[in-house]
Amino acid sequence: MSAKTNEPFTEEQWLKFVQQKQLKFVECQDCHKMSVIPFAVCTTCGSRNITWKQASGQGSIYTYTITAVPPPELQAIAPYVAGVVELQEGLRINGIITGVENVNSYPADLVGKTVSIEFLELDRKSILAFRLNA
Ligand SMILES: [Zn+2]
Repeated sequence: MSAKTNEPFTEEQWLKFVQQKQLKFVECQDCHKMSVIPFAVCTTCGSRNITWKQASGQGSIYTYTITAVPPPELQAIAPYVAGVVELQEGLRINGIITGVENVNSYPADLVGKTVSIEFLELDRKSILAFRLNA
């Protein structure tokens, strides 16, 4: 499916997708560069032939940290694991990691563990997260 003109290649639009519980990224149709940070003009080849793509939502944990002192909007779920997930598409993206036991003490090493996308609802806002696969 090609991009619609009412879906601009902006961070604002990316956030709108998250509110619709969709994880999207942009892909250049000429050189196939992909990015979760939207661009309207390809940063590699200069093409304007860009489309939004839906991410698979599957990935593995690249790195993570335990967040005990969160920003106010995430107070309700602290402490939590904030991670960088490498998606199957090869893109890395920040997200909250859920389903982790012993967040308060020392959870088992999570690097390389596989995760599936989920969206948390906090104050009627949708927040990007990934749940540890069983
Ligand atoms: Zn390109």
